[in-house]
Amino acid sequence: MIELRSDTFTLPTPDMIKAMASAPLGDDVYGEDPTVRALEELAARTVGKEAACLTPSGTMANLAALMAHAPRGSKVLVGAESDIHLYEAGGASVCGGLVYEAVPNQSDGRMLLDDLAKGFPDDADDPQFARPALICVENTHNRCGGRVLPSSHLREVRDFADARGVAVHMDGARLFNAAVASATPPAEVARHADSVQFCLSKGLGAPIGSVVAGTAGFIDEVRRIRKMLGGGMRQAGVIAAAGIVALETHDRLADDHANAAHLAEGLAGLSGIEVDPAAVETNIVMFRVPEERLTRQAFIAAAAARGLALAELGHGRIRAVTHAGVGREDIDRALAVVRDVLTS
Ligand SMILES: *Cc1c(COP(=O)(O)O)cnc(C)c1O
Repeated sequence: MIELRSDTFTLPTPDMIKAMASAPLGDDVYGEDPTVRALEELAARTVGKEAACLTPSGTMANLAALMAHAPRGSKVLVGAESDIHLYEAGGASVCGGLVYEAVPNQSDGRMLLDDLAKGFPDDADDPQFARPALICVENTHNRCGGRVLPSSHLREVRDFADARGVAVHMDGARLFNAAVASATPPAEVARHADSVQFCLSKGLGAPIGSVVAGTAGFIDEVRRIRKMLGGGMRQAGVIAAAGIVALETHDRLADDHANAAHLAEGLAGLSGIEVDPAAVETNIVMFRVPEERLTRQAFIAAAAARGLALAELGHGRIRAVTHAGVGREDIDRALAVVRDVLTS
């Protein structure tokens, strides 16, 4: 099977397995797992923040970050197309007592300042309003096709937030894809956010884990909330060891981006497929099929029957994600499968 549904299907590399097998371990809830500490220190340094905390998932990383930033009953502005808004079971509302305000995402993942401003009514001191506390940005933006938020935009959001006294959290599940695609150090990508979370378990290729980073005081609070949510793990160095290898080898993501561009260009050459290769900046390709002949569900099923796994991703689109588990020859085979499905 050529697995293009998600970059979460990556399996740990031999180097990761080796690191996991020989990692020094301790009880991380006591702060005594040396491998977790090494990962957290490396992560904090890499994304340019004071401290970092390992969590079991990106969902918990975002949840703990939102809860640490925003008091119960306050409001967080999230992209209408964001993972936090759509794919995290409303956790910050359920567990954190937070009110989500969904702000439209442009096709490139940005939120317009005019739209963000609607979350800050002129008479905000009126006691009937939930107080805005936090703005969340997603970079790269998954449902917008893995787009990289321009640094000029991130600065603009930062200034906007500063003017209103709220914090900025970056859901950087694919932060390293953004860094590699824009040839920008990860710390620079995260610079305009107070806190950032990134997934070790996606394109970086580790089996489990995410990291939240921010100021030392903020991370102390994230650690407390992580424990409350059941995310305090004991000998988590087993996971962290793979995460360290993942971070050290993140340059590899450039191959995924080249493969995604190759896929998009190949798809653009097939009649009936709607795709914009210019919008493919990282490892995600969004496209549409001619549904008057073949529904997208039937298309996905026909591709799967021929050994190509694709995913539906909302608004009538199909998503293909490149990762360490697929090479250039797999992309060429994937294109042959799509051609075959379209012509049979
Ligand atoms: C995958 C993802 C998450 C959640 O990560 P999990 O580890 O799957 O919980 C959060 N945000 C974005 C943008 C993601 O793509």
